[in-house]
Amino acid sequence: MHLWHSLEFGAKAYALKQVKTKPRDEVEKIARERLQTLLEHARENSQFWHDKLAGFPADRFELRDLPTSNKCELMENFDASLTVDDVRRHDIEGYMDDESNLGKLFHGKYAVSHTSGSQGQPLLLVQPQETIELLFALQASRGHANALSVSEVVKHLLSPVRLAVVLLQPGFYPSSCAFEYMPDGAKDYIDVLRLSVEDDDLLERLADFRPTHLTAYASVLHEIARAVEDGKLTLKPSLEEVVNISERLMPQAREHYAEIFGAPIFDDYGMGECLFLTNGCSTSGGMHVNADWAILEVVDEHNRPVPDGAPGAKVLLTNLANHVQPIIRYEVGDVVTMATKPCDCGNNLPLIARIEGRDSDVFYIETEDGTRALQPTIFELAVGRVLEAREYQLVQDDPTHFRARLEPLPGKKVDAQRAKDALDEELHKYGLRDKLHVDVEIVDRLAPNSDQKFKRIVCKVKKPSADAKVKKIEQPTDYAA
Ligand SMILES: [Zn+2]
Repeated sequence: MHLWHSLEFGAKAYALKQVKTKPRDEVEKIARERLQTLLEHARENSQFWHDKLAGFPADRFELRDLPTSNKCELMENFDASLTVDDVRRHDIEGYMDDESNLGKLFHGKYAVSHTSGSQGQPLLLVQPQETIELLFALQASRGHANALSVSEVVKHLLSPVRLAVVLLQPGFYPSSCAFEYMPDGAKDYIDVLRLSVEDDDLLERLADFRPTHLTAYASVLHEIARAVEDGKLTLKPSLEEVVNISERLMPQAREHYAEIFGAPIFDDYGMGECLFLTNGCSTSGGMHVNADWAILEVVDEHNRPVPDGAPGAKVLLTNLANHVQPIIRYEVGDVVTMATKPCDCGNNLPLIARIEGRDSDVFYIETEDGTRALQPTIFELAVGRVLEAREYQLVQDDPTHFRARLEPLPGKKVDAQRAKDALDEELHKYGLRDKLHVDVEIVDRLAPNSDQKFKRIVCKVKKPSADAKVKKIEQPTDYAA
């Protein structure tokens, strides 16, 4: 039975690989069929979706006409939004209060977790086990430097990859849960060592394990890289690839890490609501959307599509694999820019060129017209030009004072004055040069404070109340990023 599971997993991963090179319209057709099935299922089995999708015939609709959804709505209507009768909000909340349930499927069927709540209220997530299997199969087939071939499948059966996953302490948060719920079929291919950035013996255990694959947050990669730079840890030559999840790496840090780790770096972009949304591309540094299993719409504030090459205000996510908790045109406040050209790597799936944080990561400034939200992009474009920096942090101390904290790459020197000039130049374009002050601090190390994820954007100014409807400072029209 076990071997059968493994072969089945290998076959699934191999089939998924084929989609990468299909023409775009064929992939869209697959997605369209899956969307139709999802809508029918949601409408028939969930009261919430039945009401919400009333008036949209399942066989005749345009995606952009369907209603959007959001986290508050899904939490307020949690039980009614699910398509199954055996999961209740109260029960899974109780289940997750008991840490001994980590890694155990709820009712033997569902992987349960919750988002961090850094965006306000956390969302409870219920995923059938198949969606976790899909995540691993996509990683195996599309997230690799060496595309999976039949001989690769056999090779990994004989000699499993050694995957080190370094995250925060285990918990019911989505990226941790994915590894807790790894499907049996994948276990013959992947030997997982689960570590926490807080483990005192992290470096020793990494060295002993000799990972072929390493998955971590960017801030954790910084820690591991510092140890490699100081000669305390060697990952060459066994390491074959590094996957950076959940936080972004600066391009120069990615390049430097590829060199010192001796392996390509892949940036994956996903969220608890759809962990398998993309696989990183080491050729472009971007991310390919798994468009046969998820639909990502980049839109403006009014949900109108934004052309490729331009940053959206948010994205609308549709997860085509999770039929238990439908996620349909679900709003996520990430600022995403799609690439305008096909990728050189040969993968035809849509390519995300850049992600510029979340729209909830904002600063607040006072203007003649009252309080306005200022997006950190204005500063990020300037610090992005400081090519000697490993990492940065932007802090707003009060309505008019900011600090750009920069950690240099090893052996590099950051010119603070040059960085400040670049920042002032950006402020000038917005007409804010005389109103706001930004200081540059060069620091030895930027790292998370406790068991929190690293915060690049820190706003110490009190957030206006939710109903104040604060307007954003608009980008100048002649703004060239
Ligand atoms: Zn690519």
